[in-house]
Amino acid sequence: MTRATIHGLPVSSGVGIAPAFLFRSLPFQLSGAAPGKADSNHEKELLEQACADIKLELAEAEEGAAPGSMTSMLADHLFHGGVIDRIDAGMTAADAVVQTTNDLIAIYGELPDPVMRNRADYAEAVGRRLFRRLHGLPTPVFGRSSTMILVTDEMSPFEATRLQAASVAGIVSERGGATSHFAIIAKQLGIPVVSGIPNVLQAIAHGECCICDGTSGAVQATPDEATLAAAHMRLAEITSEREALAALRRPRTATRDGRPVNLWGNIAGPADVQPVLDAGGTGVGMFRTEFIFMGDEAPSEERQTAVYGDILRRTPGPVVMRTIEAGGDKSIPYLTIDHEENPNLGWQGLRMCLDMEAFFLTQLRAMIRASSEGELWIMFPFVSALWELRRCRELITKADLEVKAKGVRPGNYKVGIMVEVPSAALLADEYLRDFDFCSIGTNDLTQFTLAADRMNPKVARWYDSYHPAVVRLIAMTARAAHKARKPIGMAGDMASDALFIPVLVGLGFDFLSATAPRIGAVKKTILSLDSRGAQELARTVLTMNDTEEIRTFLKKKHEELSA
Ligand code: PEP
Ligand code: MG
Repeated sequence: MTRATIHGLPVSSGVGIAPAFLFRSLPFQLSGAAPGKADSNHEKELLEQACADIKLELAEAEEGAAPGSMTSMLADHLFHGGVIDRIDAGMTAADAVVQTTNDLIAIYGELPDPVMRNRADYAEAVGRRLFRRLHGLPTPVFGRSSTMILVTDEMSPFEATRLQAASVAGIVSERGGATSHFAIIAKQLGIPVVSGIPNVLQAIAHGECCICDGTSGAVQATPDEATLAAAHMRLAEITSEREALAALRRPRTATRDGRPVNLWGNIAGPADVQPVLDAGGTGVGMFRTEFIFMGDEAPSEERQTAVYGDILRRTPGPVVMRTIEAGGDKSIPYLTIDHEENPNLGWQGLRMCLDMEAFFLTQLRAMIRASSEGELWIMFPFVSALWELRRCRELITKADLEVKAKGVRPGNYKVGIMVEVPSAALLADEYLRDFDFCSIGTNDLTQFTLAADRMNPKVARWYDSYHPAVVRLIAMTARAAHKARKPIGMAGDMASDALFIPVLVGLGFDFLSATAPRIGAVKKTILSLDSRGAQELARTVLTMNDTEEIRTFLKKKHEELSA
């Protein structure tokens, strides 16, 4: 029987059609129960049953690992033996799995040999799957030939980093706004997402055929034949549009009259570099480093240096590495942040780092140690006051000296700031004085300018980057950067929006950092522009005082350019 269409928030564009996989979230943590109470024989039976249940899945999943590396964990004396020892000491099987997994991640994660370090990832993948099975919850197997629409109440950062575009045709979620962690990853992978649907796990059945339209925000479970045929047609159109854009992968991105624009990509880790290059990006315009801090503890300086060096080596152009931006809407479990009434206006991003100097210096040293591997641009996010910037400069100098004192010769690197708080846009000329570049983060700039939480689907109507106040702050920042003769870029979602690109080119942006799947469309727009025409267009937009007027005007211009 056909069911009513469900409407949610369109978060990542595109269309996916596949059977639903219901994925209920479950925090991977100790229960808090005192050890000593559990019946160890019973807990061991539960453990062996769960191991048997997931064995086949693990063999299929292997998640990029060498064959057998995950299944062998189930018999490994450190992993399996460790769980048994803890059960014998009175823990439940589930708690024993959490404890053993966390201990092994800590041990393996510090080993110098990369093959051994990989075992930390396998232990985590196996431990989490086993933990969910012990709670009677399934975990999807990515890499199987079939695809799925993931239907979930909430997706954790760990789960998000495991997503695979070839297996996940779409995501339908109860929680998570357009710029939440999992949405950022899904956009990078080109997976359509609809979010903000209450009780979604009750609304859709496991295995039911679903259409997830991330462009309109519509979700259709058990569609009728006509709806299904229309969705397949739309999917075919999207695929051929993508193929046409792939053909545009010329090395140079410039307007028709030859004004070059550096087109780079946003990444969350080393694995995202190649998709950016494949899409025609020539650098990394923003590495959100907080994604490598999502495990159960912070990566060591060695580990960070290895990751940063790896990314720099793989990228032919600059890599803009943003220092960790956690807190607010991006919580990291081990950074115990007290409950805050307004986390988005609270102790987050640079504020947190400045208060945790040793932690911050570790990251800065790791970046500087890796700087000889490529073209490094260090970027500070969430800047709101001049004194913070002075402190950042001092800390960079300190980290640099500490690295040199260890006998390491750093390469040349730039240091810049992110403009994502209105105070930084208004004072960009002052803030840029001691820095080499700036990049605008429209996701936060929009939320702070318009006082509309980017995570809250209820205020999505108020959260609109086409608002003239946001556009004027962008223009103001660009003017300040030009005056200071410093490069200006953009890494927020607006840099991935083909409609808005003519404004950015007209305002003289030097670099744009888009998500890999959007690089083709952004490039197509730039190639179709004339730089004087774009300047004229930007001037016109700046005279407008209504959000819809701006959007309608830019849509019309986009249609003219695409004709
Ligand atoms: C932004 O705020 O626009 C940005 C790029 O940073 P994030 O989305 O990671 O907050
Ligand atoms: Mg931001």
